[in-house]
Amino acid sequence: TNSQARHWIGTSWKMNKTLPEAAEFAKRLLGVDIPGSVQPFVIPPFTALASVATILRDSGVLVGAQTMHWADQGSWTGEISAPMLVDAGAQLVELGHSERRQHFGETDHTVNLKVLSALRHGLIPLICIGEDHDERAWGVARATLERQIRVALLGVRPDEAHRVVLAYEPVWAIGETGRPAPADLVAQTHRDIRRILVDMGTGFAGLRILYGGSVSPDNAPDYLDSPDVGGLFVGRSAWNVDGYQSILRAGA
Ligand code: PGA
Repeated sequence: TNSQARHWIGTSWKMNKTLPEAAEFAKRLLGVDIPGSVQPFVIPPFTALASVATILRDSGVLVGAQTMHWADQGSWTGEISAPMLVDAGAQLVELGHSERRQHFGETDHTVNLKVLSALRHGLIPLICIGEDHDERAWGVARATLERQIRVALLGVRPDEAHRVVLAYEPVWAIGETGRPAPADLVAQTHRDIRRILVDMGTGFAGLRILYGGSVSPDNAPDYLDSPDVGGLFVGRSAWNVDGYQSILRAGA
């Protein structure tokens, strides 16, 4: 990873892109001039992971997976383990995305098991947290985030905690039905998250926190203005190289 990076800016392709489409994106990305202050990362679907990782090897772009199982191997039909991701060339794994929590039974507890497995196998856990619409309306957004963070990081040693990256992704801001969170709310929430991390002690206090949810080339600079926002996690707007490139430029 780029230790000089002020911002991490990456994209998950979710359930999109065939092998040829994934390879074309990765090859075009090789030609993009990425600001030295940015750590880029790309999260393809499992099927394209190995080929994208091969194309982007030594490029400085991190490659990750969208989820994984917590066990190393076994009778878990349909699942993929941390050692398999490492084998395929992944350096990073996204955990606890709201779509996994909503539709596929991901819980704070399973996220925690997966975080511990990722760290054991040398993968960077990119942990997604975020309140839903009701939790914000009811005034328990901060309590929700605190629970998600504290449970996800149970058993993580202070000396390995710096390898964890968090992504604040309010559920109401994500995807086709989402609307981008106001930049001042994001700045305030990132400060709240920082206080929770500081409370957890050294090792946790400095964790990088990304913002995700309807990020676009237009609104990216507003989010990155806040000193507590350590980068952006982008879906739709970065599924083509031109969109991703404009957002990468905002991180310079
Ligand atoms: P979106 O997705 O940018 O399409 O809203 C963000 C995410 O799910 O991380």
